[in-house]
Amino acid sequence: MTKKENKTAGYADQTKISHAGRQYAVHGMVNPGVYHASTITVPGLEDWFGGTAKYRYGRYGTPTLRALEESVADLEGGHGCCLFPSGLSAITSSLLILLKTGDHLLMTDSVYQPTRNFCGEILKDLGIETTYYDPLIGTGIKELIKPNTRMIFLESPGSQTMEMQDVPAIIKVARAAGVLTAIDNTWGAGHYYKPLQAGCDVSIQAGTKYIVGHSDVMLGTATLTEELWKEYRHKYKLLGQHVGPDDVYLALRGLHTLDVRLERHMKNALEVATWLQGRNEVAEVFYPALPGTAGHEIWQRDYSGACGLFSIRFKNPVRGAIAAMIDNLSLFGIGASWGGFESLVIPFDPTTYRTATDWPHKGICLRFHIGLEAPRDLIVDLQAGFERMNAFKN
Ligand SMILES: *Cc1c(COP(=O)(O)O)cnc(C)c1O
Repeated sequence: MTKKENKTAGYADQTKISHAGRQYAVHGMVNPGVYHASTITVPGLEDWFGGTAKYRYGRYGTPTLRALEESVADLEGGHGCCLFPSGLSAITSSLLILLKTGDHLLMTDSVYQPTRNFCGEILKDLGIETTYYDPLIGTGIKELIKPNTRMIFLESPGSQTMEMQDVPAIIKVARAAGVLTAIDNTWGAGHYYKPLQAGCDVSIQAGTKYIVGHSDVMLGTATLTEELWKEYRHKYKLLGQHVGPDDVYLALRGLHTLDVRLERHMKNALEVATWLQGRNEVAEVFYPALPGTAGHEIWQRDYSGACGLFSIRFKNPVRGAIAAMIDNLSLFGIGASWGGFESLVIPFDPTTYRTATDWPHKGICLRFHIGLEAPRDLIVDLQAGFERMNAFKN
C-alpha cells in the first residue's frame, strides 16, 4: 500500500510513528488487529476474476501487514514498503529483483558480511559481477561505473568499521549515469537518516534492529520511490516473501517507541563512547556522532541523530587480554544483532574480509551496542574489564 492512503503524511516523525497503523484499527481500538489468514474469501466469480478485492490471499497482505508497510514507507518518506522475514532477506531479495544476468554491481567494501557472501556466491552463479569500492570514495565512484553497471549499493555507516559514506555525492553520480542506488539504512533506522530524500532508489533496513527494538523478532523492510515501486512490488510477489502477523504486530508495536528509544540509545552511547575515548587502552573510537571521530562532519551534515552502535580499536590488541576484558562483563552479552534494549559487545577483525581497501590496523576490535541501562553502570562494568585486561599476562 502506498503513502497516499496514510493519514499521518505531513506530520513530524514522532507523530507519524505514534499513530502508525491506526488507519487499520477498528471498533475504536488504537491498535490494528493481528489477522491470521491464508484463505481470504471473495463474494463471487466476478470478484475472483476481477481481482478487485482489497485482500485476496494471506501472502499478498492483510490489514496487519499493510499497517506496518505504510508506516515504514511514511517514516522513510517512500512511496511504498515491502516486508521481508529478515533484514538479510530484504537485501538479497532487492538485489535479485533489481539485477539480472550480465549486470554489474558496485558494492561498498564496508558492507555487512552476509551481503558480501551473497554477492560472492549466489549473484556470481547468476552471472552478476560485483566490484567492491572504498566506502570513502565519494564522487570517485564515477571511475568505477561500467556500461553494464546497474546498481551502486551503499551502507552508511559501514558495518563494524563505521565509515560514513558521502551518500548524496554518490547518488548524484549514479543518477547522472542512470545507475540505481540502494542503501542499507539500518543504523539510521529510517528516522535519523532519510536516504530517499537524497535521491536514493531503495532504502533497506534490518527491522530486526531498532524498529522491532526488543531482540525478539526478525524482519526486513525495503522502501522505494514511486519510480521503481510497480516493478519491485510485482517481483516481490513473485518471490513469495511473507512475514507472519505476530511478528509484524510486534514490529509495529516497537515502531511506536522508536523515537524515544533512539534518543536514549544515543545519549547513553555518547556517554560511554566519550568515556572510552578518554581511556589509555583505546586507540580510536568509531562513532560518527562523537566529535573528533572519523566521519563526524558527514554525520552532522546528513543525520538528525545517532543510534547506540559504535566500535573501538585498541592500542595494544592482545587477544587474550581482550578476552579477559569481555568474557566477564556483567551487563554486556557477547552476541550478534543490536537495536534491542540491552547492551552487547562482539569482537571483529576487518583485515580478514576487506577486498577493495586495506584495513590499516592490526588486531581485534570491539563493536558495542549501548542499550537502555544506566550508562554509569555500563562504565563501571567496562572499567572492571579494562582492569582485567591490564592484569592479563601472556
Ligand atoms: C543485522 C543486519 C542485517 C541483517 O538483518 P537480519 O534481520 O539479521 O537478517 C543487515 N544489515 C545490517 C547493517 C545489519 O546490522
